[in-house]
Amino acid sequence: MAQAEVLPEVTKFLEAPKMLIGGKPTEATRGQTFETIDPSTGKSFAEVPRGGVEDIDAAVAAAREAFEDRRWTSLRPGKRTEILYKLGELIKRNMAELSQLEALDAGKPVSLASGEMWVAGDVFRYYAGWPTKFFGETNPSDDNSFIFTLREPVGVCGGIIPWNFPMVMASWKVAPALACGNTIVLKPAEQTPLTALRLAELALEAGVPEGVFNVVTGLGPEAGQALAQHPDVDKIAFTGSTEVGRKILHASEGNLKRVSLELGGKSPNIVFADANLKRATKTSMYGVFSNSGQVCTAGTRILVEKPIHDEFLNSLVEATQSMKLGPPLEEDTGMGPVVSQEQFDRVTGYIEIGKKEGAEVVTGGGPAEGFDGGYYVQPTVFAGVRNDMQIAQEEIFGPVAAVIEVDDVDAAITTANDTMYGLAAAVWTSDISKALRVARGLKAGTVWVNTYGPTDASVSFGGYKQSGFGRELGVHSIETYTQTKSVWVNLK
Ligand code: ADP
Repeated sequence: MAQAEVLPEVTKFLEAPKMLIGGKPTEATRGQTFETIDPSTGKSFAEVPRGGVEDIDAAVAAAREAFEDRRWTSLRPGKRTEILYKLGELIKRNMAELSQLEALDAGKPVSLASGEMWVAGDVFRYYAGWPTKFFGETNPSDDNSFIFTLREPVGVCGGIIPWNFPMVMASWKVAPALACGNTIVLKPAEQTPLTALRLAELALEAGVPEGVFNVVTGLGPEAGQALAQHPDVDKIAFTGSTEVGRKILHASEGNLKRVSLELGGKSPNIVFADANLKRATKTSMYGVFSNSGQVCTAGTRILVEKPIHDEFLNSLVEATQSMKLGPPLEEDTGMGPVVSQEQFDRVTGYIEIGKKEGAEVVTGGGPAEGFDGGYYVQPTVFAGVRNDMQIAQEEIFGPVAAVIEVDDVDAAITTANDTMYGLAAAVWTSDISKALRVARGLKAGTVWVNTYGPTDASVSFGGYKQSGFGRELGVHSIETYTQTKSVWVNLK
């Protein structure tokens, strides 16, 4: 199958990607860089500034200045709408370039990456509608007073995002922050720094004033840590692992900045005997293996009701084996490599753990052969899994499914909830009452019924339990990126 040519604009961008601080392309103060690796070859394909504490300081100072002089906040709300909408459109116009950058950087199929660019553009268009649509309140009072609330931006925001959906995660942080009149410093993951840099350039082109949206590339414990603990940052929005989420929470305590955390998951996908098996199988397969399983909501625990267990498993294996593993830029690739050597070691390590725990590998079961130097792992299905096994309790973040047999509705709910996580869940059944009863019983921030995985800019997203707190998207991000001020006026 044809391998798409790398576009000339991509090649040009890769020559010297720069951070964007105060609207200016910027190298790291100490002149350091780090390599970004193509997961399909294991080879470096670009050098990116390795921003540190000084660079975070500079970016936060630029964002602070831009916030305090109100170059963005004071604009007519309709003007902010216009600019954010234009940014959404620019993402669409540059989709081919952005998709290739993302595919190369994250190792994801370019078809998946272009879908994600559409989503990111859509998030900007959605939040473009908000500046003209959020209001304060007029409070009840006696005739001698007038009391009202202003809904104001929080100030300087920090966004720390992971490598699995770099551009989409950037849009989830940047779009609502800007819609509400804040300024922001974004720290993309070191594995996938490129599209965030390009996004910041497009924001300038759309008319976002200099200093309002800054990007610092660098390592988590350096740039990320510096941003999370910075005394002049008012809010941190983090998406990533539960382990790093804890560090963010600690780092943020110095100035008690607002924190929202979207963390890991071990999401249950329950298939009852009365489900439409064909649809359940196919969608469950994508639900766990899409993006090589590197999805915080991945349906990694597939709970199947006893009477259909064997039939479901056979179809799942068949669907899994029909998926084509390949390089990201090849048009018919269904699944690419995992993102890094570290992830490769982690995922293959968990596959070995699963075998030792006594689960049965029904397809896959280790590294994929025939890909020179790339981080390819076979999509792997384990059957005979018990929910207390490590492979059922710990987030693997790779293409590994654990199929667990359950007896009935009650057992399904109990097993589904027996986890420290609570990000998402799904239920497959043709009985609407059962679907709704189960949806109510599941401890998860999102429950899908007869589908798996959709998100939308208008629908709240976030976790129960150790999957984090705070909700993103929809009106929820408007609430978390603003604060209210009550104003009392004495009319006497
Ligand atoms: P994943 O498990 O998906 O690799 P991580 O939670 O490790 O995700 O990383 C998500 C983001 O958090 C990345 O941008 C990473 O650089 C950043 N990060 C990692 N460690 C820290 C830290 N100690 N402080 C702040 N940010 C960090």
